[in-house]
Amino acid sequence: MYHAKQAGKNRFHIFDHEEDLHVRVQYDRVSRIQEGLANGEFSLYYQPKVDLRKGSVVGAEALIRWHHPERGLVEPVEFLPLIEDHELIVRIGEWVIETALHQMDEWHDIGLELSVSVNVASRQLQASNFVQHLRAALSNHPNVASKVELEILETSALEDMAKVSRIIEQCRELDVSCALDDFGTGYSSLTYLKRLPASTIKIDQSFIREMVTDPNNLVIVQGVLGLASAFQRQVVAEGVETVEHGRMLLQLGCDYAQGYGIAKPMPAAQMPAWVANWRPDPEWSAIKDLRWN
Ligand code: C2E
Ligand code: MG
Ligand code: MG
Ligand code: MG
Repeated sequence: MYHAKQAGKNRFHIFDHEEDLHVRVQYDRVSRIQEGLANGEFSLYYQPKVDLRKGSVVGAEALIRWHHPERGLVEPVEFLPLIEDHELIVRIGEWVIETALHQMDEWHDIGLELSVSVNVASRQLQASNFVQHLRAALSNHPNVASKVELEILETSALEDMAKVSRIIEQCRELDVSCALDDFGTGYSSLTYLKRLPASTIKIDQSFIREMVTDPNNLVIVQGVLGLASAFQRQVVAEGVETVEHGRMLLQLGCDYAQGYGIAKPMPAAQMPAWVANWRPDPEWSAIKDLRWN
């Protein structure tokens, strides 16, 4: 940050100007995102989630993408951080929930029953009308309402645990289950998990990626699996990229997995064919059929 004092009196001008410029650029970026939402430039991609043991597809995670007219496909890490403290994140979050439900209805109509999990930003989750909006959105899609799940970052759950616990509870009353996303990155302990009534834990991909080479990460994965089993929570491993990851996770007793090794996030239109071509195999030979590695 530019330090005005060091620069002396006559630099105050520049300081103010730079501040203004920063605010201006930030404002432009936010309004461009807002415009993009209004222009229909956003879409949801879906990444399948599979049951490693049964070899079946159990659902998909909805992941937002921005199809920018000049910049092409823009990943969420490039625009969500700009608006995470802005009211717009709430608006986008509502759009995500409505779009996912609409998509699930379309799939339902062609006989594809998939659970879909939707990521919820901290500010969105804690907005006073979050549960109210969710209830209204679900009531417009009664055929698929019970198959929606929410993903809440572990770190945002830790921000205000009492409040987030209550919200998770209210979601459960709507038959919507919650998962703690990027689990392990928030310095969680036994106590935290006891207080958060989330049904699922998603082990952060950094631990999965490195469990093969770093025994410390393996211990963490084992620890999370033990914790989850003690508290009767389901576990999804994120970032499953290789056959080795899948095999190890199965041996460790982890049932569900997501990752580039299974499928990358894809446009909704590609999902029905992907699901139809996925070969379930109880003997886990399914893993050999995958084009992993
Ligand atoms: P996340 O919820 O933890 O989602 C997983 C991210 O890891 C996704 O990135 C996914 O494409 C990527 N990924 C999945 N498998 C693999 C793998 O095997 N290897 C590697 N290297 N990466 C893998 P994406 O789509 O770029 O999303 C990044 C983050 O942005 C998400 O992390 C989530 O926190 C946030 N996000 C995405 N969509 C939304 C949304 O609709 N609303 C909110 N609030 N956040 C979202
Ligand atoms: Mg997620
Ligand atoms: Mg994650
Ligand atoms: Mg993440």
